[in-house]
Amino acid sequence: MPDDMVEAHIRGVNNALSAGWRVLERGGSALDAVEEAVVIMEDDETFDAGRGSFLNRDGRVQLDALIMDGATLRAGGVGCVEHLRNPVRAARKILSESPHVYFVAEGAEKFAAERGIVLCKNEDLVIPREVERLRSYQSELANRTLDHDGNDLFAGSPDDLTISHDTVGAVALDRNGNIAAATSTGGTLNKAPGRLGDSSLIGCGCYADNESAAASTTGWGEPIMKLVLAKWTADRIAAGNLPEWSAQEAMNYLKQRVNGHGGIIVLSRDGHFGIAHNTPRMAWAYKTVKKQDAGIIREN
Ligand code: ASP
Repeated sequence: MPDDMVEAHIRGVNNALSAGWRVLERGGSALDAVEEAVVIMEDDETFDAGRGSFLNRDGRVQLDALIMDGATLRAGGVGCVEHLRNPVRAARKILSESPHVYFVAEGAEKFAAERGIVLCKNEDLVIPREVERLRSYQSELANRTLDHDGNDLFAGSPDDLTISHDTVGAVALDRNGNIAAATSTGGTLNKAPGRLGDSSLIGCGCYADNESAAASTTGWGEPIMKLVLAKWTADRIAAGNLPEWSAQEAMNYLKQRVNGHGGIIVLSRDGHFGIAHNTPRMAWAYKTVKKQDAGIIREN
């Protein structure tokens, strides 16, 4: 994330933390807490979720989200939705009110609308900052220099240009000892229409199981998907490793196995948690009954 966005990120994750904590404090569920925390970040234009998300190649916002309950393993996901301000709310409705787990595109929007969620115009989700970001990215792509054989050196890897990732996620543990996770994103800048990332796929960008851990990831989605990274990390915890170690191991695995980059937050049922990333920065905030902290830079 650029220097001038650091403060906004800190503020944003702290606001989300407060919203989630309020739910837990009054005895609410971890599931409700992660939903409320993610809604705050979807509503905050700072992040790549909800309004203010990165634009796809056609200049449209296309959103993915998943929410999962560690107590029951129920989950709800939406992919490629274009008319929902808060995709996590629709995902929650799927979790709570549908025998299915995943809806995409118009079907997801229809499902949401039938359950009282108001649809918006795609333009309502687009902000000028992102129009400009897409324009300058696409013009950089168009002006790329070719090598002496005439080959474009850009092979389609987001690593090749400076790309930030701004997906949002939350994990929580409630008084009843249940954990939950939620992740929401606008995906990657200039993605092809219809491209689905890791964020809303169970076990990739989000996972929760009381018997292992709740996890949410961010970063370049294709490598994360290939490793089913959130589940991979939860499995390490189920095998007896601490979340702090497992989160760091997940980042090492991501880098070494598929040259991926990103970040992860992970929480186990006994209240241990891990925060790790292999990018220069990631915004995070946590609160326990004993302690609260937030930060942004953990240089690796
Ligand atoms: N993981 C997301 C995706 O690939 C992007 C991100 O984390 O910012 O869709």
